[in-house]
Amino acid sequence: MDHGLPREYTDRMRRQLASGFDEYIKCFDKPSCRALRMNRRKVSAVDYASVGRISTGSDVLEKVEGIDGAFYYNEGSPGKSPYHAAGGFYIQEPSAMYPATLLDIGDSPLKVLDLCASPGGKTSQIADMMNGQGLLVTNEVIPSRAKILSENVERMGIKNALVISSDPDELAVRFEGYFDRILVDAPCSGEGMFRKNPEAVNEWSPENVEMCAKRQDWLLDCAVSMLSEGGKIVYSTCTFSPEEDEQCVERFLMRHPDFAVCDPAIKLYPHTFRGEGHFAVSFTESDMVGRTETGGRRCCLNELRQHLRPPVSVRPPVSVELMRAFLMENLQDDCELMLQVLNEKERITGFGDSLYLLPDQCPDMERLKVYRAGIKLGTIKKGRFTPDHALSHVLRPEDAKNAIDLDPQSPEALQYLAGMTINCDKSIKGWCLVCAGGLPLGWGKASQGVVKNHYPKGLRSNSSV
Ligand code: SAM
Repeated sequence: MDHGLPREYTDRMRRQLASGFDEYIKCFDKPSCRALRMNRRKVSAVDYASVGRISTGSDVLEKVEGIDGAFYYNEGSPGKSPYHAAGGFYIQEPSAMYPATLLDIGDSPLKVLDLCASPGGKTSQIADMMNGQGLLVTNEVIPSRAKILSENVERMGIKNALVISSDPDELAVRFEGYFDRILVDAPCSGEGMFRKNPEAVNEWSPENVEMCAKRQDWLLDCAVSMLSEGGKIVYSTCTFSPEEDEQCVERFLMRHPDFAVCDPAIKLYPHTFRGEGHFAVSFTESDMVGRTETGGRRCCLNELRQHLRPPVSVRPPVSVELMRAFLMENLQDDCELMLQVLNEKERITGFGDSLYLLPDQCPDMERLKVYRAGIKLGTIKKGRFTPDHALSHVLRPEDAKNAIDLDPQSPEALQYLAGMTINCDKSIKGWCLVCAGGLPLGWGKASQGVVKNHYPKGLRSNSSV
């Protein structure tokens, strides 16, 4: 009956859940819930069913309540589907889909920070809500995890993100009063994941709960100093411990009496919701009057100017010309991204050999550990421009002069993802956008009926096809 759960944990949960405890424990006999969330910027609602069916092999996909484009699945390995490689959806635990909804991202462009962001489930959801508008700074302090975050940002075709790896303390000093929305999806004792990842149980101890609670207090204080006037913070965890969740909220309100909870907290348990465990709550200032005296969080104008200063850029004109020539040669005249690149000169920046289209209002990046800044357009080597994989993921098939659309269930699509050449019509020559089911997978270069594979080596699947 104990499912390997520590005695101190079950004793506490028995007190916490009272009559619900038995139901909670029974959940450990059932499989954990699996779900995927469609990338609404790539897949339109009419295609949800077919993308879901092809990717999971299941005819019936049940909706995750209240989350547009999210579906439970029981079968298949959607992570191996070409639609997944194309960023058509993100595999996300259903309960984890709720915190981002509290951020209240409307239609106006906002500056949003996802402070503890890897692997990027909530970042991709926030990006989906922002719909390419505003600036999304997504941070992960652990470098190896920041790399994964950056890859997911690329796969999902997010155009307006700055992916960084910084200590929250440093960010708090640097971005004082800067962000309109901040998500603190805090590292926690992970009790809500015990069914899904039984090994998480080994990490659990009352001391670890206490340490996580303190770290969450600190993360929330960092977030407060980065919040702009009238902004909103969402704090979430995947744990049940009151020392973290509810008491963290109480301690926060004690330390910041000018703040109030603005949406009732969400606490999801596997026996009350079809998902794993999660907690989420949002804070905003209860009173706008006197805020500068109380917290001094307002950004002084000079600091603000500094943040908005155009980035120090290396803009080698020759490289930019090569890049422009590539785009004009290979993309259609009405391609939105190309028109943006041609018109918004301020946002084109070079780092080393590579050229980027920065997000709108990109802050000064000096001394930040940047993993990705907007869209990596490509690289100049030996006087030639080579398009980057990231560029392929922000285009639509109709943007490219040469696009090859493979059947996502065909061996060719899997061959392409494994790094192999594919055949094409002999009339196609040069760079082409290789797609599956209408979503770009990456680049290829066609010559005499064969497409040379430019899918990045590090992403290639090993599966024999
Ligand atoms: N938001 C992510 C998502 O939806 O995919 C999950 C985030 S996970 C719950 C918490 C993250 O915080 C982890 O990636 C962890 O590496 C990071 N983290 C650990 N210690 C941290 C610290 N001291 N400051 C900030 N982040 C930290």
